[in-house]
Amino acid sequence: MSYRLNEKIANLKPYDPISGEYKIRLDANESYIKVPDEVLDKAFDLCKRSGLNRYPDPCCTELIKAYAEFFGLSDKCLTMSNGSDEMISIIVSSFLLKGEKMVTVLPDFSMYAFYASVFENTVVPFYKKDDFSFDVTELIDFVNKNEAKLLIFSNPCNPTGYGIKRDEVELLLKSTDALVVVDEAYMDFWDQSVMDLIGTYDNLIVLKTFSKAFGFAGVRLGAAIANEKLTNVLRAVKSPYNVNVITQTAALCLLEKKDYIYSAFEQLKNSVKGLYNALKELENDFTGRFYIAPTCTNFIVLKSDEAKELYEYLLSCSIAVRYMGSFLRITTGTPEENAELISCIKAYFNK
Ligand SMILES: *Cc1c(COP(=O)(O)O)cnc(C)c1O
Repeated sequence: MSYRLNEKIANLKPYDPISGEYKIRLDANESYIKVPDEVLDKAFDLCKRSGLNRYPDPCCTELIKAYAEFFGLSDKCLTMSNGSDEMISIIVSSFLLKGEKMVTVLPDFSMYAFYASVFENTVVPFYKKDDFSFDVTELIDFVNKNEAKLLIFSNPCNPTGYGIKRDEVELLLKSTDALVVVDEAYMDFWDQSVMDLIGTYDNLIVLKTFSKAFGFAGVRLGAAIANEKLTNVLRAVKSPYNVNVITQTAALCLLEKKDYIYSAFEQLKNSVKGLYNALKELENDFTGRFYIAPTCTNFIVLKSDEAKELYEYLLSCSIAVRYMGSFLRITTGTPEENAELISCIKAYFNK
């Protein structure tokens, strides 16, 4: 006898987009700003006093109160998760019955299709145009013709940086019976959130994360925002102790520092603006060699027929960015990191 892995998992590889040590990491859309010592000291001290021998609060009561207040929401409409990755997995695993369809809008965040495949969901992809835009009315027709039960997309989008306006998302919400999951992982860098519409549309779930603008990728914390009915389901289907004591404590300590959070948002937005302008200038100097796409996020898309060569050249300069086939996705870094990136890109195109 011999045990055989089923085919959906037999050839999976562990998630490791980039291996190796690089001096400058601009590949994962993290914040380059370190969490202030004040926040960390307080969090570690509280954890130490707790002893960590007890399970965490399964309802994240205090954390939800603080997070809801930060966004001016009711605490009845929040569910916390171990990163928003976990929330994606929870939604994709529980809101579809066998054979029901889920629509993704490609290119988009790879985890949607990944979890869908693990849970054996039927994914029907809707493809964006070459400039990453898409016609929302065409998407609505696509979702409805396919009788999809779930539509999931990131807005602004990772990896394209492209965002659709709030009124377009609203049109989607009112034009379909499908559950619409809007992943707003990067919305802290833009101003078109639909989280205030959860009371208006009963088919909306908004996903949030602490990993990007909040600069807390290391603690693993995400959230779903939805009406009470959906929230009760999410709270019921998640695993009970999904957000650990250290994460809950650290996030509470961070949320006490509202001024710091807002100033970090501003700093990151200025940083990406500076990088965008510098790259645009280079684009002019090397007409036709590459193209910089507009962005609503903390990263920039560089399209080029030479994307692979440029990617490898940057690695040889110890700068890691994300290679996505026809383009590179570059997270904004510190002023020094961005300056080094620019000079390496310049050197590559001057070769
Ligand atoms: C980074 C990212 C996430 C993952 O967030 P975690 O909370 O770190 O799991 C989710 N969605 C999108 C679109 C992202 O880019």
